[in-house]
Amino acid sequence: MTAGLKDKVALVTGASSGIGEATALAFAKAGAKVGAMARRKDRLNDLAKKAGSDGANLFSIEGDVSVRKDAERAVKETHAKWGKLDILVNNAGIMLLGPFDEVDIEEWERMVKVNVLGVMYCTHAAIPLMKKQKSGHIVNISSVAGRIASPVSAVYNLTKWGMGGFSEGLRQALHKDHIRTTIIEPGAVLTELTDHIPHAGTKESTKGYVQNIEALESEDIAASIVYAVSQPERVNVNEILIRPTGQDR
Ligand code: NDP
Repeated sequence: MTAGLKDKVALVTGASSGIGEATALAFAKAGAKVGAMARRKDRLNDLAKKAGSDGANLFSIEGDVSVRKDAERAVKETHAKWGKLDILVNNAGIMLLGPFDEVDIEEWERMVKVNVLGVMYCTHAAIPLMKKQKSGHIVNISSVAGRIASPVSAVYNLTKWGMGGFSEGLRQALHKDHIRTTIIEPGAVLTELTDHIPHAGTKESTKGYVQNIEALESEDIAASIVYAVSQPERVNVNEILIRPTGQDR
């Protein structure tokens, strides 16, 4: 299944932990060359160590996707290092939950900047390179929260719901250039995502929920991404919704 990834070049944003880290490692193991981007340089260095003999396939890029020049640099550096860009995984994201009127405005501004503008900046920088190659694959990590809302996730819902429309619009615009588009919608995955929830009550209930079901592991989502990007050129896997078996919503 992963044979199709050998010597492909990918940029994975948010590669310093969780789903992005697992995806970067899975790609490197499958023989892809990976630009691994995040803000925490130390964690990116750990990633190369974790990859062992596949570490040579990984290239760390320190940067913040919500800063346009960082996002553009990540795309350019990945392309410059290996001479092409086959896959962009827009994974970097934050989930600063809480009732809309009880969370600081700065929190929702940050979430919109990272989850929405970050995805747009990276995608905008990647498209001209992919068009020139006449091939490419853009993978956007959304969420079940892109389909189902809750009283404490309105802004997160807004950022992830938008991803569905953005991905389908891109698909329609880019398929003629042989650029594929996939949206991945995970349910609960055991990662650091819930550690940053600013509203105490919401943090407690969300962490409790994740602990009480057998949540997915980051590797489960990485496997779904590897599946989507390993298909023959004629196959465009547009959408993957993947929940833990024990998740009720
Ligand atoms: P983690 O918190 O483990 O990982 C988030 C990653 O994003 C980290 O590598 C972090 O690195 C990076 N990141 C955050 N902000 C920025 C930024 N401004 N610029 C660059 N990188 C950034 O969470 P997950 O792995 O769970 O999250 C990955 C994606 O999956 C997110 O988009 C999330 O919304 C989505 N998702 C997660 C689910 C879950 O249950 N865990 C469910 C559904 C979707 P650093 O801090 O070093 O910058």
